[in-house]
Amino acid sequence: MQCTQCGSEQTQRLEVIYEQGTTTIRTQSTSVGAAGNGNFGAGTATTTTSGIQQTKLASRAAPPQRKSKVGGVCLLLLGILLGWMGIGNSGWLLLLGGVALAGGFLLLQRAATYNRDVFPPLYRQWQASWLCHRCGCIYQYGQH
Ligand SMILES: [Zn+2]
Repeated sequence: MQCTQCGSEQTQRLEVIYEQGTTTIRTQSTSVGAAGNGNFGAGTATTTTSGIQQTKLASRAAPPQRKSKVGGVCLLLLGILLGWMGIGNSGWLLLLGGVALAGGFLLLQRAATYNRDVFPPLYRQWQASWLCHRCGCIYQYGQH
């Protein structure tokens, strides 16, 4: 696919760059130690390292993210907790709990709206995006 800026043929879809540049590492190393001294004892130690390794280019080509609902859920739980502590105790705690509940609902609703209305077109745009390896520009193609 020709670059719209410089006409170079050295282009790749962002999706491909992202997948190629992101590797999940899982290495396992075993070390064996032996202790002499009349008695013979041997021990093994296994260390597992795992994580995600990403090139700079891949992180630039990363897809848009859905909004997380974690914050909203936490606020809801906090609201329930505060309300529960406030029953028969303090009107202020009840009030705070109510505010936290309302905030939690609001956050959840905003995340849901974003994921439903804003995220899909962003994701489609990302899928149709290409990166030019010569001039480094990102451009959309395939939506005409
Ligand atoms: Zn270019």
